[in-house]
Amino acid sequence: MPTDFLNNSIEFLKGVGPKRAEMFKSELGIFTFGDLLNYFPFRYVDRSKFSKISEIESDSVYIQVKGKIYGLNTVGEGRAKRLSATLRDDTGEIDLIWFQGQKWVLEKIKPNVEYIVFGKPTLFKNRFNFAHPEIEAVADAETGVNATLQPFYSSTEKLKTRGLDSRGIAKLTKNLVDQINGDVEESLTADIVNNLKLIPREKAIINIHHPEDQAILDKAISRLKFEELFFIQLALLKTKFIRSTSVRGHNFSIVGEHFNTFYKQHLPFELTGAQKRVIKEIRANMGSGRQMNRLLQGDVGSGKTLVALMCMLIAIDNNYQACLMAPTEILAQQHFATISRFLKEMPVKIKLLTGSAKSAERRIIHQELENGSLNILIGTHALIEEKVVFQNLGLVVIDEQHRFGVEQRAKLWKKNDIPPHVLVMTATPIPRTLAMTVYGDLDVSVIDELPPGRKAVQTLHYFDTKRPQVFGFLRKQIALGRQIYVVYPLINESETLDLKDLMDGFESFTREFPLPEYAISMVHGQMKTEEKDFEMQRFIKGETQIMVATTVIEVGVDVPNASVMVIENAERFGLSQMHQLRGRVGRGADQSFCILMTGYKLTKEAKTRIETMVRTTDGFEIAEVDMQIRGPGDMHGTQQSGVLDLQLADIVRDEKILKYARNIAADILEKDPLLESPQNRVLSMRLKQLQKHRSDWSKIS
Ligand code: ADP
Ligand code: MG
Repeated sequence: MPTDFLNNSIEFLKGVGPKRAEMFKSELGIFTFGDLLNYFPFRYVDRSKFSKISEIESDSVYIQVKGKIYGLNTVGEGRAKRLSATLRDDTGEIDLIWFQGQKWVLEKIKPNVEYIVFGKPTLFKNRFNFAHPEIEAVADAETGVNATLQPFYSSTEKLKTRGLDSRGIAKLTKNLVDQINGDVEESLTADIVNNLKLIPREKAIINIHHPEDQAILDKAISRLKFEELFFIQLALLKTKFIRSTSVRGHNFSIVGEHFNTFYKQHLPFELTGAQKRVIKEIRANMGSGRQMNRLLQGDVGSGKTLVALMCMLIAIDNNYQACLMAPTEILAQQHFATISRFLKEMPVKIKLLTGSAKSAERRIIHQELENGSLNILIGTHALIEEKVVFQNLGLVVIDEQHRFGVEQRAKLWKKNDIPPHVLVMTATPIPRTLAMTVYGDLDVSVIDELPPGRKAVQTLHYFDTKRPQVFGFLRKQIALGRQIYVVYPLINESETLDLKDLMDGFESFTREFPLPEYAISMVHGQMKTEEKDFEMQRFIKGETQIMVATTVIEVGVDVPNASVMVIENAERFGLSQMHQLRGRVGRGADQSFCILMTGYKLTKEAKTRIETMVRTTDGFEIAEVDMQIRGPGDMHGTQQSGVLDLQLADIVRDEKILKYARNIAADILEKDPLLESPQNRVLSMRLKQLQKHRSDWSKIS
């Protein structure tokens, strides 16, 4: 039977005491015995393997060497005073150095005794040395705790001042696991443990700290990784289930005149198969009487806007209002223009609301929203301000979700008794594993087909020295009537350095493409909205052939006649950003090009990014590479998701375990959605515990 043993305050663990306990709390959030048990090592060193001195390479990690120690000697004066010695085995010798604790070393080390020396070799003046190695006589080691895999714990500067370096923590965990006997509660059902042949939780915990051998360590790690991913999936799927069964939603039972008239009379092209399928999925969801929370994924140019528009028409058919929220003003304006154009012959009232709207305009919009005469509102964050009150909001479409936080979504819902349906559109392809975790509580629709007749954008990489040839190519394209984007990187809108790059670029383009033959637009984040707008419009209308811009044009801008995207300093862009930018071209029937300009010096990662862009236009493939390069932590949307809090599992490396865990969680919830059956009690208890722990700790940090 589990006991209260693990709830003991860390202070009372032998070797801790009040001062170290304070530090454990403030530095690592470790309050109890149980917390320390959940603080896992990040690495193990096999203390049964020995290296030969002659085999030491500069990049060696921690190693151990067996040999005798000679020439123990104090050298240097004052602060430079140190103790040095030489370790010899039958292949060579290496220096040992101590800067502190010299007295202890002098007392301990005896000539002609064989020692095991453990440390990380460093190269100094062309010679390897061990600084502050651990030393143990071979005779002692045979019986010592270090006979097997030694755990390494991460520590902090402050902890180290109290002797709580990795070794110090290891002593404490050893002390603790030695005392455990039936205190660690099993967190999974017997079925799961048996079917997956997992080792019991207690055994896993003991062995992740102080494993007897590699085989049991592997078992401990895979058991705990599974558990970690399983409970995340269980929590997400449970939330999803509860929402989809108990949160009431507006019932869009009819597909009526607006939708049908548009479909039959105004749709300028045939929908793709994928668009049709996705609209059906959304329609079914909005007609179910439950609130929809759906992610619409589709690569750039796959036609998400049109899908959103048709869904908004369904809302109108059911006497509801709809809104579409975009991350930037330019994008909101673009959506407004596109949708107004699509609907110009239909009796639908559409307005635009952004931060720069005049107060008189605003007042009218507020009125029309409240009296219900406004059908569709398009805008930026301004849509979720307190003052904006809809008469009957039925559907919220959020474009490019990664810029909207989860909290902002929640804010929208709070305004109504019955929350509106939510459709989140993203053109940033998300690796499947990440989507499962970040958006694991949403339903997902995928548009996996581009409109017909699109030619894949051809991507070319040129070094800056080839600029004259590139200019020649651009001139030819303009002569064919095409338009060109030139994009400069931007780290921070306020950095004058970035602006200077852009201005220099603009000047050199103006020199190469002079008036009156050519006209160039420029857009950057420090311009006033009206100016930006004016410049964008000139380009959209075809009055300028070249648009020089920062990444403000990254998302969503749609000018089908633009067929070349030049990305300057491409080595400074992330993969998904380049993919987004490339998606701005290839929208018309002409062959489009993306030209990546870089200097000669490229880091390994920059090279991988450029090569990936040249090799493929598949957004999902690009997203996978991106996640491998950067790790999931830097991917869009992960900040709020808990992916970063994973202690053991890695959603890239552990994709298989993740899918397994999700499937098993889904199976269990299908039979017992609220985890009420006696056998699932253990799961619901653990889930509660984990959620409580997370919220406690977040209050502190
Ligand atoms: P996304 O937002 O997914 O990047 P858009 O909705 O902006 O893509 O669509 C890209 C372009 O393709 C637009 O010019 C749009 O009018 C056009 N388009 C959308 N659906 C189709 C279709 N079924 N057939 C042809 N063109 C389409
Ligand atoms: Mg779009």
